[in-house]
Amino acid sequence: MKEKKIALITGASSGIGWSTALALAEKGYDLILCGRRSERLQQLADVVKVETRQLIFDVRDKRAVLEAIEGLPKQWKAINVLVNNAGNAHGLDTVQEANLDDWDAMIDGNVKGLMYVTKAVLPFLRESSWGHIINVGSIAGKEPYPKGSVYCASKAAVQYFTDGLRLDLNPEGIRVSAIHPGLVETEFSMVRFKGDADRSKTVYQGVEALRADDVADAILYMVEAPRAVTIADLVILPTRQASAYIINREH
Ligand code: NAP
Repeated sequence: MKEKKIALITGASSGIGWSTALALAEKGYDLILCGRRSERLQQLADVVKVETRQLIFDVRDKRAVLEAIEGLPKQWKAINVLVNNAGNAHGLDTVQEANLDDWDAMIDGNVKGLMYVTKAVLPFLRESSWGHIINVGSIAGKEPYPKGSVYCASKAAVQYFTDGLRLDLNPEGIRVSAIHPGLVETEFSMVRFKGDADRSKTVYQGVEALRADDVADAILYMVEAPRAVTIADLVILPTRQASAYIINREH
């Protein structure tokens, strides 16, 4: 009989999360699709050929996260894979000029939200026959870039939370991984620049950025590796990018 596998993906309504959902569906994973935009999640559910369930919540809302995940029907609680992908940058400013609401959005979403989702899903991963958590960090979590201090700090926190979680879950046989992409062309810059399409375009000028599918392929590779193998930490960059802020742009 075919093994039943369930993956829960946050931020499935766009970009890396959307592509990861498609990639896991191709491998037969039933999907719990999470995000705030239900119409986008419905579009995704309409194109995959596996069973899906949608959870609509803001990861910053602790109560909403816990209620949504605890409220899953029993058969959907047998979760094997958690992809903690929801997150964004808000603003690109020096500390002197930055907006405190942007800081809250990044720390509350990228850090605390990821932790809330992990805490809520963990009991089900522990009960499942196997479990794997993949946290989406960033090259920004490996080294800061100018005007990105708080986004970079939020992704450094993802790195350290992931490493600590791996220590805690080591006795339980649950795999814990992080993936750290460089520049990926998604809605990310539109969110960062609050809908300013011209400014957003400049981010990808003169460089072939990663596609969300490239990152999804890498996530799939981590998930589909033999269960005795943990790819603990994976950095994926466009070939023209050498560090968080050194990019060889064509002029
Ligand atoms: P994206 O296209 O903007 O997608 C972000 C996703 O996160 C959306 O599905 C969004 O869903 C969800 N999300 C954001 N804030 C949320 C919140 N408070 N509550 C619930 N869901 C929320 O960006 P992306 O590039 O795919 O980003 C995915 C992850 O990759 C993020 O963690 C990002 O930091 C990381 N990353 C991106 C890049 C890049 O260059 N693009 C590089 C390195 C790392 P809703 O709007 O429907 O809620």
